[in-house]
Amino acid sequence: MTTMESLIGLVNRIQRACTMLGDYGGGADGALPTLWEALPSVAVVGGQSSGKSSVLESVVGRDFLPRGSGRVTLRSIGIVTRRPLVLQLHKTEEGKPEYAEFLHLPKRIFTDFSLVRKEIQDETDRLTGKTKQISPVPIHLSIYSPFGHWRWFGWPVVARLTNLGNLQWMKFMAAAKVVDLASACTVEGWRRRQLLAMAGVVNLTLIDLPGLTKVAVEGQPDNIVQDIENMVRSYVEKNIIEPEPNINGLDTYHTCRSALVTITVFPFSFMPNCIILAITPANQDIATSDAIKLAREVDPTGERTFGVLTKLDLMDKGTHALDVLEGKAYKLQHPWVGIVNRSQADINKNVDMIIARRKEKEYFANSLDYSHLASKMGSEYLAKLLSKHLESVIRARIPSITSLINKTIDELESEMDNLGRPIAVDAGAQLYTILELCRAFDKIFKEHLDGGRPGGDRIYGVFDHQLPAALRKLPFDRHLSLQNVKKVVSEADGYQPHLIAPEQGYRRLIESSLNYFRGPAEASVDAVHFVLKDLVRKSIGETQELKRFPSLQAELAAACYQALERFREDSRKTAIRLVDMEASYLTVDFFRKLPQDIEKTGNPSTITADRYSEGHFRRIASNVSSYIVMVSEMLKNTLPKATVHCQVREAKRSLLNHFYTQIGRKEGKQLYQLLDEDPALMERRVQCAKRLELYKNARDEIEAVSWAR
Ligand code: GDP
Ligand code: MG
Repeated sequence: MTTMESLIGLVNRIQRACTMLGDYGGGADGALPTLWEALPSVAVVGGQSSGKSSVLESVVGRDFLPRGSGRVTLRSIGIVTRRPLVLQLHKTEEGKPEYAEFLHLPKRIFTDFSLVRKEIQDETDRLTGKTKQISPVPIHLSIYSPFGHWRWFGWPVVARLTNLGNLQWMKFMAAAKVVDLASACTVEGWRRRQLLAMAGVVNLTLIDLPGLTKVAVEGQPDNIVQDIENMVRSYVEKNIIEPEPNINGLDTYHTCRSALVTITVFPFSFMPNCIILAITPANQDIATSDAIKLAREVDPTGERTFGVLTKLDLMDKGTHALDVLEGKAYKLQHPWVGIVNRSQADINKNVDMIIARRKEKEYFANSLDYSHLASKMGSEYLAKLLSKHLESVIRARIPSITSLINKTIDELESEMDNLGRPIAVDAGAQLYTILELCRAFDKIFKEHLDGGRPGGDRIYGVFDHQLPAALRKLPFDRHLSLQNVKKVVSEADGYQPHLIAPEQGYRRLIESSLNYFRGPAEASVDAVHFVLKDLVRKSIGETQELKRFPSLQAELAAACYQALERFREDSRKTAIRLVDMEASYLTVDFFRKLPQDIEKTGNPSTITADRYSEGHFRRIASNVSSYIVMVSEMLKNTLPKATVHCQVREAKRSLLNHFYTQIGRKEGKQLYQLLDEDPALMERRVQCAKRLELYKNARDEIEAVSWAR
């Protein structure tokens, strides 16, 4: 493949990628608007009747533009082009008829090009009236044609490609694609349709502009001179141009919006770089050329300006433009190209393009002044120059395109990582995936418990604050009140009051007190349970890999909650058992060490008298209370041990054991259902993968081109 062809392929691919990404240029919402901007459009700039429309037609190789006499007479005034014409050339299949379509007449197909010209005039008049007013609102015209009619554009390249068949030709057209004026005029529907129509084949955008003028003629507002200049600038300037609300014609534009069905926003917004064909008629003093003046201002380096000298045939006898054409005067970066378009008389006689081209060739070949330059003159040569320039512009953009593409690839790849790889089809791989996901979750859950992540400390909080507080709040004061102690002891004694110490009374008082510990014991079990449950919920949320599987998330959560429920039950039983154990066997030592009443008073006679006194019962209450305090201290230590043993340790050890057994029993279909993804996410992955492939292809292509030099 030649370098040019691979370059074309590259551009074609990039544009396909842009189109696929919903990037239609204009930079509004596109992912890579600058890719479109990598390709320039071509605009003709010059004074009125300098031959702009004629040059454009020559480049396109088709008659369709209104052209007119440039002379200002009493009857006619020489503005023919009064609104910008944005022309898009589309390649269609060979053998298909050629046709044109306007944005403002979406359903009408024009096959007669004289009607196209008439419609341009009529549409201009519709907006401006049959006046000499101009309007910045562009007319959008698309021409759909098989190969033949663009032959003037890039003829040498085309000649190389003619034998290469449709695809290669399409690729050539790709190189010729230019960012269209939708970046200046957001015409989304129109563009989308065109993009679809060309099915990935790119096109060329040419812009015909009203001529620059020096004075307003009768019927024109005074500011028309400046307005035209502003309008032209807006199309050829490289910078962002703010909409200018007062510019002539904009108001009309708004009133006419409904007629211009799909036009949505401003005529001026953002103009990417644009190749300037600066048209100067040779029969005027070049020093006064508006085109050159403006081009030098907007393109000081001259890298995108092509000087075109028209009307060489109309120069006064004995004069010539060799100084300019040979690059001695008014030197530009690109060589000047002399052109001989059809004269008004030719137009009146309907001289066709082919004959006009032949005559132009003959003119240069036979000219005494220019024959030595013949190979570098004429419309054909201009088209070739333009084509070469487009190629070099595209080449110069390669590094920035590459870095943009690489950036996008990186972004897409990290998005793919986040979205996760597609699920395998066989049951074994699915089971493996599920187990991997569970493991990832389990790891995070354990990190929460062990302190890598927050949350585990809340369990300690239960033991350190909640449980002691609950124990402190137990109503032992009431339970061991003098009155209640008396009552319990008396009831325990029955008809025969105790003789020495109320053994049964003590037991009953202690047992009934111990019952109170059940509440805090159960509460701490529950509190730990809720912490664990919350950590499960959090861990599921934090397991990135699980995000795409809502069904598995739900099942996993349910399984964990069930397991935690079992642990809670076990823990509850253990805690209660600890309390019950305290009631089963009292600590003998405690009572042994209790001081004897007798020893205390040292007077046995008072003992009997004292046995049923308040002091006696107060002592019983105090002894029981001390015992309970001792038990409470013990439970404060043992209940956490039981809870951690039964709940926390089990959660760490076997939270998913039951779930794993269940999963192991599942059939392929059930496993697949578990890995059921959010449809929106699946769709995003497909899109993402597609984009990634496109961008990778584009990158490969660019690399191939870069090395092809
Ligand atoms: P525009 O106003 O700049 O678009 O100029 P047009 O393309 O409409 O041309 C204005 C007039 O000049 C038309 O009558 C053309 O036939 C005529 N014209 C343009 N270029 C040439 C040329 O190279 N030679 C001759 N003899 N006439 C030309
Ligand atoms: Mg014109």
